[in-house]
Amino acid sequence: NSFMELNLSRPLLRACEALGYSKPTPIQAACIPLALTGRDICGSAITGSGKTAAFALPTLERLLYRPKRIPAIRVLILTPTRELAVQVHSMIEKIAQFTDIRCCLVVGGLSTKMQETALRSMPDIVVATPGRMIDHLRNSMSVDLDDLAVLILDEADRLLELGFSAEIHELVRLCPKRRQTMLFSATLTEDVDELIKLSLTKPLRLSA
Ligand code: AMP
Repeated sequence: NSFMELNLSRPLLRACEALGYSKPTPIQAACIPLALTGRDICGSAITGSGKTAAFALPTLERLLYRPKRIPAIRVLILTPTRELAVQVHSMIEKIAQFTDIRCCLVVGGLSTKMQETALRSMPDIVVATPGRMIDHLRNSMSVDLDDLAVLILDEADRLLELGFSAEIHELVRLCPKRRQTMLFSATLTEDVDELIKLSLTKPLRLSA
C-alpha cells in the first residue's frame, strides 16, 4: 500500500514525497490504477478524502507517457466554484512541480485578458468554472478543446445544484468523443445520474 506500487513515474513519486504523502488514501488506492487504464470513472468522494490527487496523479501520469504532438489543452477540470478551482489548481501545480506540465486557472473575477493569454499559450491542463470557460471558447478563435484527452467533473452534484447544467452540456459537446471522463460527486442524485449517462462511457464506479 504505497505510491510506488501504483506505477507512477519518478517526478510524481517525488512530488508525493515533497507533499508529505506517505501512502495513498482509500480513494487514491482505488482510483489511480483504474484511471491509468484510461477507462471512465465515476467516484463518490467528499472533500478531504484526497480525491484531487486521486484524479490528478493518474491524469499527469498519462500526460507524461503520452507526449503531445502539438501544443494543446489536453485536460479540462471543471469545478463549481472559484474557491475550489483555486484549490485544485494549486494542488496540480504541486503535483506537477517536477515535470514540465503546465496548468492554468480560468475563473470569474480574474482578468479575462490575462486568462486569454494563458489559454493561447496552450497549457496542458485547464482548471475552470463552467461559465468562464465557455466565454473563452465562444470568444476566442484560438482556444478550443479539439485535442482534449481527459475531462474531469469535480463535485458534480454542486455543479448541477448551482445551475451549471446547460454550460456543462455545452462543454461536453465541445470535447472530442474519444476521451477519458472522470466524475466525482459527494451525492449521487438523479441529476448526477443523468449527467453520468450523458458524459461517461461504461464508467467504473468507486466509492470511498
Ligand atoms: P482533497 O480531498 O483532495 O481536498 O484533499 C484533502 C487534503 O488531504 C489535502 O490537504 C491534501 O493535500 C491531503 N492529502 C491528499 N492525499 C493525501 C495522502 N495520500 N496523504 C496525506 N494527505 C493527503
